[in-house]
Amino acid sequence: MTSGSSIPAPGCKPGNADQPLRVAIIGAGPAGFYAADHLLKRDDLNIEVDMFDRLPTPFGLVRHGVAPDHLKIKNVTKVFDRTAQNPKFRFFGNVTCGEHLTPADFRDYYHQIVYTVGAQTDRALGIDGEDLQGSHSATEFVAWYNGHPDYRDLKFDLSQPTVAIVGMGNVAVDVARILCRTVDELKETDIADYALQQLAQSKVKHVVMLGRRGPAQAAFSLPELKELGKMHDAQVRVLPEEAALDDLTKKHMVEKPDATAQKKVDQLQQVAAAPDAGKSRDLTIRFLVSPINITESDGRVAGVDIVHNELYETDNGTMRPRATEKTEHLDCGLIFRSVGYLGVPLEGVPFHDKWGVIPNEKGRVTSDESSKEPLVGEYCAGWIKRGPSGLIGTNKGCAIETVQCMLEDVKAGNLLQPEYPTADAAEHLIRQRQPVFFSYDHWRSLDEHELNLGKEAGRPRVKLTTVQSMLEVLGK
Ligand SMILES: Cc1cc2nc3c(=O)[nH]c(=O)nc-3n(C[C@H](O)[C@H](O)[C@H](O)COP(=O)(O)OP(=O)(O)OC[C@H]3O[C@@H](n4cnc5c(N)ncnc54)[C@H](O)[C@@H]3O)c2cc1C
Repeated sequence: MTSGSSIPAPGCKPGNADQPLRVAIIGAGPAGFYAADHLLKRDDLNIEVDMFDRLPTPFGLVRHGVAPDHLKIKNVTKVFDRTAQNPKFRFFGNVTCGEHLTPADFRDYYHQIVYTVGAQTDRALGIDGEDLQGSHSATEFVAWYNGHPDYRDLKFDLSQPTVAIVGMGNVAVDVARILCRTVDELKETDIADYALQQLAQSKVKHVVMLGRRGPAQAAFSLPELKELGKMHDAQVRVLPEEAALDDLTKKHMVEKPDATAQKKVDQLQQVAAAPDAGKSRDLTIRFLVSPINITESDGRVAGVDIVHNELYETDNGTMRPRATEKTEHLDCGLIFRSVGYLGVPLEGVPFHDKWGVIPNEKGRVTSDESSKEPLVGEYCAGWIKRGPSGLIGTNKGCAIETVQCMLEDVKAGNLLQPEYPTADAAEHLIRQRQPVFFSYDHWRSLDEHELNLGKEAGRPRVKLTTVQSMLEVLGK
């Protein structure tokens, strides 16, 4: 193993009654909580976990990513609550790694550090017009409607009748649903109050999703597709010629039957054959098309030029799209790019720019992607470890794999050798660097307050969306 700033201490094995193993987890999303849970479950080791998040509130994308109308999914936070009840767990919200504390600081105070910072930005399309006014990433819109303090003041021109969404994953479907739902439907969700008010004034009538591959390769899941059909006042449309499978896909489906893909195709073909239902809005799902240029009028988005694709088979048997000669133009005043989230680097921590992840071997941070040699005491889990894919539950297995490596390293004595390995010393440092931090008790009070606001408004929850309002509720 190679060392960062601290020297490994072979044979030194904290984790006993006299010297707890001190672990810092950076990022309070699902990966962070699953890692904490798996560490704190060990009754053969005395482990203390301090979890940090740049936001005052815990839960990462469960609070600021998962769609507001997917309330049941958010119940997973009850599991995280149980982890947080462990007396050896502490939460320090509003503390940013890279601003208030650096990785070097963590190395001075903890035996092991786990980076679970997720994927904080989005991939670009790489086409002209992408930066025009009216062209946004889905990341921004999602964070806005979910009340993320950093995104609450963004403006989206919802006076536009037609909106294009580039991408066909579940996030694109979430964005489409939020644009198509009625105010009454949205009121039953925990969508941010300001977003509810602005969506209530929305003039959006037509939403068009653009997918570069065909119906059998669509990335959205079947339940998400079926849910679209249950929207109160919006009709889903698919062009019959685009719902039909191309010859190559037909051959593939025969050679390698895929029940899920087949169900999606069946569902899409049913949608394509459905009569007009006379609803106020429509969501058209387009296949085998890619944007090639965003056009402008007076400096803002006016439309998008689209090329039609055909599929071809790669050497390893996957189906890829390639452009044909056929193009068309779609008039639209607002575009959301939903082609994937992307991790951002933390200063002082290795990073793979192209993949947007921390290079690692099963969760042990390595100096670069080609190295198999891990850094002492540094780990990662979740989206920053494996990239932005997978459901909340996927992060559990991912975090467990990382924790297994951590426990092996404890056994082998391959740990950082911090100068100040105590809970008091760490808290002293945090108070110095960020006096306005939020504990888990603070979060419990905020949670109760939001639920009470929700009761008064006849909604499941009304989110606090500024740090200031949270401090006021806590009487700070
Ligand atoms: C729009 C969207 C909708 C989704 N919907 C669903 C769904 O319906 N069902 C489902 O199962 N999954 C869903 N997912 C997937 C799920 O949210 C992810 O699998 C999961 O959140 C990833 O967990 P994570 O802990 O790696 O990252 P995150 O949840 O992103 O957590 C990372 C945390 O790190 C913090 N952080 C970042 N940088 C720093 C720093 N420098 N210092 C301190 N803290 C920092 C962030 O504030 C955040 O709290 C959705 C994802 C998205 C994007």
